[in-house]
Amino acid sequence: LALRLAEQSQLPAETTDNVRISLNANIEFPHETGSCLQRGADGIGLYRTEFLYLSSEEEPTEEDHYEAYAEVISQMGGRPVVIRTLDLGADKMGHGKRAQAENNPFLGLRSIRLSLRNLDLFRPQLRAVLRAAALGDVRVMFPLVTTIGELRQARMLLNVVAEDLKESGVPYRSDLPVGMMVEVPAAVITLERFAAEVDFFSIGTNDLAQYTLAVDRSNESVADLYQSSDPAVLRLIQASIDVAELTQTPLSVCGEMSSNPARALLLLGMGVRNLSVPPSALPRVKKAIRSVSIKQCEEIAERICKLESARDVDLYLMDRLADLA
Ligand code: PEP
Ligand code: MG
Repeated sequence: LALRLAEQSQLPAETTDNVRISLNANIEFPHETGSCLQRGADGIGLYRTEFLYLSSEEEPTEEDHYEAYAEVISQMGGRPVVIRTLDLGADKMGHGKRAQAENNPFLGLRSIRLSLRNLDLFRPQLRAVLRAAALGDVRVMFPLVTTIGELRQARMLLNVVAEDLKESGVPYRSDLPVGMMVEVPAAVITLERFAAEVDFFSIGTNDLAQYTLAVDRSNESVADLYQSSDPAVLRLIQASIDVAELTQTPLSVCGEMSSNPARALLLLGMGVRNLSVPPSALPRVKKAIRSVSIKQCEEIAERICKLESARDVDLYLMDRLADLA
């Protein structure tokens, strides 16, 4: 089986009715790009840059950021690279001086909120992203965006930083595409407003499930309640896909849900054409994509709309996957 998966690695992620799916990889470190390419990734759909902080005692400098991004971009040889700005806080706090005890860390000062309140942290990263973007097909993405005000603040800061680079004559990319993670229900509910102000969306099913179901994704005592296949989560995903289609905003799914082959097929049936998965999941997700037609996926999605629990959804999916892939 491993051999057959490896043989498929350089074939396109295409359904049996010839619909090309963009199958990308989620990475945390530059050295992972080798395994992404080996497994035939179309690009990097999510580069979790906070790991630059978590792997060192020292806060990374603008140069540290730049070097890490430049390495990923050059390794990927012209393929798209989506750099997500710092998603620090909650489960990804590390030991640095920014660490702060909070009662409800997942509802606290994390992610884009933390970046917007610590410009000495955020600005060097944005400078590095803008500079590195001159080296290839780079896009930037903001995590955990909840209100349009946050998005505007982040974009404004990006513009200010770009002006600084311009004035100092430092090369950078002036038309850097800007996207946001869709991982908070408030953003889904008002998504058409965001569509007017971003170049792309990426659904983070890990956080979207956590915030929709009110279940801390790191709390073992409620782990059984944490289900990305829950019908409520699926409805929010479908609503996001519908807004993206209506507003012609490119959309991908980069949460763990897409790394499960059966759930990936469900996402295709719901209208998703771009997935990003951990490198280890690339072969199995590609195999699943190459074994079905979009029509079959749509039938699955239609049927699943009517189910009432995550358990029913997953049982149905496992059953169908056994038939199809
Ligand atoms: C997500 O929330 O689905 C996601 C991809 O981001 P992270 O897991 O890094 O929070
Ligand atoms: Mg997230």
